[in-house]
Amino acid sequence: HEDPLQEDAYLDTPPVKRATSTLPIVAVVGRPNVGKSTLVNRIAGAFHDGSIVENVVGITRDRTYRPGVWNGRNFQVVDTGGLVFDDQSTFMPEIRTQALIAIREAVVVVLCVDGREGVNPLDLELASFLRRETKKSSVFVAVNKCESDAGFSQAAEFWSLGLGEPYPVSAIHGSGTGDLMDMVVEPLPPIEGEIEEDVVNIAIVGRPNVGKSSLLNLMTGENRAIVSEIPGTTRDAVDEIITVNGKQYRLIDTAGIRRRTAVTFGTEFFMINRAFKAIRRADVVLLMLDVSEASEQDRKIADRIAAEGKGCIVLANKWDLITEKDNRSYINAVGDVKDRTVCIPWAPVELVSVLEKKRIGKIIGLVEEALEQHRRRVSTAVLNEILREAVEWHKPPATKTARQGRIYYCTQVASRPPTIAMFVNEPRLFHENYRRYMEGQFRKSLGFQGTPIRLVWRGKS
Ligand code: GDP
Ligand code: GDP
Repeated sequence: HEDPLQEDAYLDTPPVKRATSTLPIVAVVGRPNVGKSTLVNRIAGAFHDGSIVENVVGITRDRTYRPGVWNGRNFQVVDTGGLVFDDQSTFMPEIRTQALIAIREAVVVVLCVDGREGVNPLDLELASFLRRETKKSSVFVAVNKCESDAGFSQAAEFWSLGLGEPYPVSAIHGSGTGDLMDMVVEPLPPIEGEIEEDVVNIAIVGRPNVGKSSLLNLMTGENRAIVSEIPGTTRDAVDEIITVNGKQYRLIDTAGIRRRTAVTFGTEFFMINRAFKAIRRADVVLLMLDVSEASEQDRKIADRIAAEGKGCIVLANKWDLITEKDNRSYINAVGDVKDRTVCIPWAPVELVSVLEKKRIGKIIGLVEEALEQHRRRVSTAVLNEILREAVEWHKPPATKTARQGRIYYCTQVASRPPTIAMFVNEPRLFHENYRRYMEGQFRKSLGFQGTPIRLVWRGKS
């Protein structure tokens, strides 16, 4: 019998993890106080919600390597701290050694300088060191503290370092860092998971008796290739790999689907937990429900899919049971299903009949579309064009007491799901209504069918 405490472990089930120690290193160097650690926080924090901080043993003892991702490239970024040459007595020799190790290991080096102070003799010294020690093509100059309009002219001065085009950035505001990162990640290898041929993880979830096992049997019956046990995830998680049109899809935790869920687990609690675990491991979720029978559980599962940021397709099954059909039935049924899943309005709804094999063939195509949107990246220029128009149409609200909300700039900081950072004067000035309006505007212009998107509101810190 299942141990209830074990079942509750879904909260600890980590998302798919990649080995940090093998990620290419981006080293940030520069003299003290130019904003290196702020820049590192920006680069790593923005893309990973800042929560994962890992120390890599064996490279250095106490330097923190933080994982980041940009344009489908994974890397780890390291702040090299006090790399200074003229006065070794002020800085611990071992700090310097660590910095040198980080630079040698780095695939890309970012030399951070202070745009407000201009070129400093130490910058010149560091630049000539980097020209000697590294491939010049892999060094980028980040001219920090360029948040004012004078940014570009401030940055131009740093051509004199002889390391190519200087990039004006503001580590505090985030402006310019996207363009810098575009260049920084260019030489890095793409993430494995983003390679076209990689296996796509699909979870089939829904309350008992909606037809999940029947669908699974249909999908695997014709296409099954391997049955694999994934050790360590849960005691009895069994995934199955199917091949459709030469591409592999992993159907997650199929043992839990095949088993007569209602009978084995008895309670809704276990069913929900099982579903939540499967959702966590999925790229795209097939949320199955019974077209003729609404349930509170449908909404709970839909909520979770949105919260986990997964792609989703809603399959309203047993369409064959609706025998009295007229020209309004289809529209009405879709509307009804949409009402039951209000928190995922972006998920396409498909009315299917597993029994009669109606519209089952469309599922993989819909999965592919959702996947593409889930991984999509939109250029900063396009996003800001939409932002400009949206603000013109509907200005951020201002009350008599509060200041006027101002949006400076936005940029996509992550995909899976697409995540857009909105740089504003004060996040609290932007209420739920306006935030929803803004998300609606991005969706109206860009679609994003089948995937949630996230807007992250950031103030000046
Ligand atoms: P580090 O010693 O190079 O790691 O520099 P820090 O990241 O500790 O930053 C040094 C100082 O510069 C701090 O007071 C930061 O708040 C400030 N700073 C960092 N980035 C910026 C920026 O983009 N603009 C401005 N105006 N100040 C910044
Ligand atoms: P699960 O508990 O979600 O895995 O659901 P099952 O796949 O075990 O299906 C529950 C019941 O619904 C079974 O008796 C199936 O034969 C039936 N069923 C599945 N799909 C359909 C369908 O499209 N139409 C009808 N009428 N019955 C279906």
